[in-house]
Amino acid sequence: MKSLIVANWKCNPTTLKEAKGLFDSVKKALLRQRLRTGEGIKNIKNVEVVLCPPFIYLSSFKFQVSSFKLGAQNCFWEEKGAYTGEISPLMIKNLGIEYVIVGHSERRKYFRETDEEINKKIKKALSVGLKIILCVGETTEEKEQGKKQQVLIAQIEKALDRIPRDEMKNISVAYEPVWAIGTGNNCSTDETMKSIISIRQIITRLYNRETADKVRIIYGGSVNGENSGSYLKESLANGLLVGGASLKPEEFIKIVRSAT
Ligand code: PEP
Repeated sequence: MKSLIVANWKCNPTTLKEAKGLFDSVKKALLRQRLRTGEGIKNIKNVEVVLCPPFIYLSSFKFQVSSFKLGAQNCFWEEKGAYTGEISPLMIKNLGIEYVIVGHSERRKYFRETDEEINKKIKKALSVGLKIILCVGETTEEKEQGKKQQVLIAQIEKALDRIPRDEMKNISVAYEPVWAIGTGNNCSTDETMKSIISIRQIITRLYNRETADKVRIIYGGSVNGENSGSYLKESLANGLLVGGASLKPEEFIKIVRSAT
């Protein structure tokens, strides 16, 4: 299974010029990495790299992408209609974008996104042919109250409610403990491994072992060029979701390199 390295730019940067600059730097750095390792232009062996810029920049990048994939950071749960301000999964798909992040903790927190809404988004996005990166993870309070397992079960069961087994190949799950996002307060690789095993067990119970084994379960939370290799080697993570460090091209490439 190819590792999945996802760059979540969140609400950054604030001008198209800067976004293009960042995009070009990442593209060039990926290219250098390929030349260095003597690999073909299309693929870094065993790694799938997905950049998720803000919606507004996606169409500017679409035609330039050859060496990595693009994803959106969110989507709506309907295809079209009177929903002012929303971006539909079909619009994203029709732009030629392959991935969408659903259920990021910042959307759950600041936009009060519920598990039921996340489930509706996943269903619609799958129906138009998008691939999903579903984010789950416990908050500080939930961790302190010993509720991590309960939270993971509830989030995954609700998000995957009535998602057919044959769609699971289009879903990756990102374990992102909320207390580790953007804080520098990393989850230990041991704790991450335990969570990844739990998540795979939950998916096994909902579907079966064969299906669960094909789902990529990745880690996100203060990943950088120094610690990325340990997550990939020691925690059973099939990839990484990177926020802050994905805005620094050289740092991001270090992370990609650690997955090759
Ligand atoms: C994220 O945006 O999901 C994330 C993990 O951010 P950071 O890497 O900055 O912690």
